[in-house]
Amino acid sequence: MTFQNIKGTFDILPDAYTDEGGTRVAPSAEWRYVEDTVRDVMSRYNLDEIRTPILEPTELVARGVGESTDIVQKEMFAFKRGDTNYVLRPEVTAPVVRAFLQHHLEQRGGVQKLFYIGPCFRAEQPQKGRYRQFHQFGVEIMGTDDARADAETIAIMTAVYDALGISDTSLRINTLGRPDRREEYIDAFQDYLEPYADELSETSRRRLERNPLRVLDTKLEHEQAILQDAPKLIDFVSDESRAHYDRVKGLLADLDVPYEEDPYLVRGLDYYTETTFELESEALGAQSALAGGGRYDRLAEVLGSDEPVPAVGFAAGMERLFLALDAADVTLPGARQADVFIAALGEEAERWVFRTTQELRDAGLHVALDLKGRSLKAQMKEANRQNADYTLIIGGNELEAEEATVKDMKSGEQAAVPFKSLVEFLKEERSVEAV
Ligand code: AMP
Repeated sequence: MTFQNIKGTFDILPDAYTDEGGTRVAPSAEWRYVEDTVRDVMSRYNLDEIRTPILEPTELVARGVGESTDIVQKEMFAFKRGDTNYVLRPEVTAPVVRAFLQHHLEQRGGVQKLFYIGPCFRAEQPQKGRYRQFHQFGVEIMGTDDARADAETIAIMTAVYDALGISDTSLRINTLGRPDRREEYIDAFQDYLEPYADELSETSRRRLERNPLRVLDTKLEHEQAILQDAPKLIDFVSDESRAHYDRVKGLLADLDVPYEEDPYLVRGLDYYTETTFELESEALGAQSALAGGGRYDRLAEVLGSDEPVPAVGFAAGMERLFLALDAADVTLPGARQADVFIAALGEEAERWVFRTTQELRDAGLHVALDLKGRSLKAQMKEANRQNADYTLIIGGNELEAEEATVKDMKSGEQAAVPFKSLVEFLKEERSVEAV
């Protein structure tokens, strides 16, 4: 019996493959390309990378994500060892805020603009676009309550999808205002739902008690119908909050970032304030959320800070991004192909090839060779499989003449190239005919 990966996790292999659920898993070179693109966008927007541990104290997540959330209630991979409670991080905002406070990043001066890429873990029911180990990239802009930070966060998020050629996205935005006005909203919301109490699902009834705003997240059609005329947050927020929201909308318009207002878009917890947003792709079906985020001006205090640290950020799922790339038929560059494959015939040639391979690699070439002592025919087949531009054939005659037989794999033409001009020849990608 051999081992299988854990359900809800997946391997990223040199080649693409289809998983049990029928989803294409992109090869490692495409993951790298996407990660490089994310890093490139982040650098254009002047963000610095932050890397925090996969393991965090469970209490950080319980507080930072919120006791009443599904994540903390039922999706944490948490365990105890000795006296410490560990959790595999289910998201990265709380860890980033922890690191910010622990290392006093505010002392670097100015606004801290941070991004991350890495794995997250949630014990969810695995399905297409929903995994137990998945990957997020995201941004946290910390230390400012300026509306430009909200607009810039949203612009960074959409810039990643634009840079990758994913255009069928839709951005929804809303404002939650500040927590001091939310009680009033929640009262009105609960009053509104009272007559429908019997029609609500078990889940929504539970949420109504613990975390009322989350009722608005329902996916059930009959509940969505009930909610159609529910009170809107925007009618309860303060004038300052409304002005902040108007500024964000104006800035998005200035940047030509299209958006739709969704008065019922929410995040369930108190430390979320003001702007909230979500990016979706129709093409993704049930798991349509590509990325989401918002302002969280109260989180630092929830995590023990004496001072408020106004901040805004987003988190995006890499697996969903790949689904959107597939849906948009975007082809990404694959792995770098070998410049040259060196076939060796006989023991002496093998030694020469092994040594010369190193020299060519030191010169920056991508060189492949046989490590199994196979026949020339098998080596030529391997050269084809590796898609090398050239194959060098080295046997006794070549060693004696100090010239390599070079085959141009595209044209099939062959020529003799002196050993001493090999690097030059291969680096300049000369055609064999020109020798
Ligand atoms: P959240 O932290 O729940 O707001 O999630 C942010 C983004 O991460 C979502 O929009 C998804 O793209 C992605 N995501 C969240 N949970 C999962 C999961 N279990 N599997 C894959 N992607 C996920």
